[in-house]
Amino acid sequence: MSRLPSFPIQGGCACGAIRYELRAPPIAVYTCHCADCQTLTASAFSMAMPVLRKDFQITQGEPATWLRKAKSGTVIPQRFCPDCGTRVFTEPPGGPHSLIIRPGTLDDTSWLHPVSAFWVSSAQPWVTFDDDVLLYETQPTDFAPVMKAWKAWVNTP
Ligand SMILES: [Zn+2]
Ligand SMILES: [Zn+2]
Repeated sequence: MSRLPSFPIQGGCACGAIRYELRAPPIAVYTCHCADCQTLTASAFSMAMPVLRKDFQITQGEPATWLRKAKSGTVIPQRFCPDCGTRVFTEPPGGPHSLIIRPGTLDDTSWLHPVSAFWVSSAQPWVTFDDDVLLYETQPTDFAPVMKAWKAWVNTP
C-alpha cells in the first residue's frame, strides 16, 4: 500500500463550507471523457474515485443535491456545495454500498493515479493516455477489470 496515503484523509469544496473524511482506500480511480462529464466539470474530463459508503463521512456542511438524468434515463444524485457550487460526490444508482468522490476535492491530490479511462471515443483530441491505462470506448459493462487494474497499481512496489 506504499502508493497510497495513510487514512483517514480529508477533502472539501472550494469555499470550505463542505468538508469530508475518507477512512479507507478507494475502490479505484479513473477518468471519464463523456460529453456530460465535460459539461459537468466545465473542463475536458472528470476524475472519479469510487469508495465504500461506510468509509465516507461528511464532517462539515450540508451538500445540496442536483438529480442528473443520464442519457440512459438513469437518475444520478449529484451532491454539491450550495455556496460555491463545487461538485463533491455522486451517488451512482445500483450502488447502495458505494459512492463516487470527485477526487479533485481532496486536500492532497498528489497520489491520485487514474488506472482507466471511460468514453475515450469522445475524449478531447489532445488528451493522451499512458500505455498501462485501461481504455474503454464508452462505459465498461463490467467494473471488475478496473478494480483489478487499481489493485495492481496499488500493489506495485
Ligand atoms: Zn463550497
Ligand atoms: Zn462521464
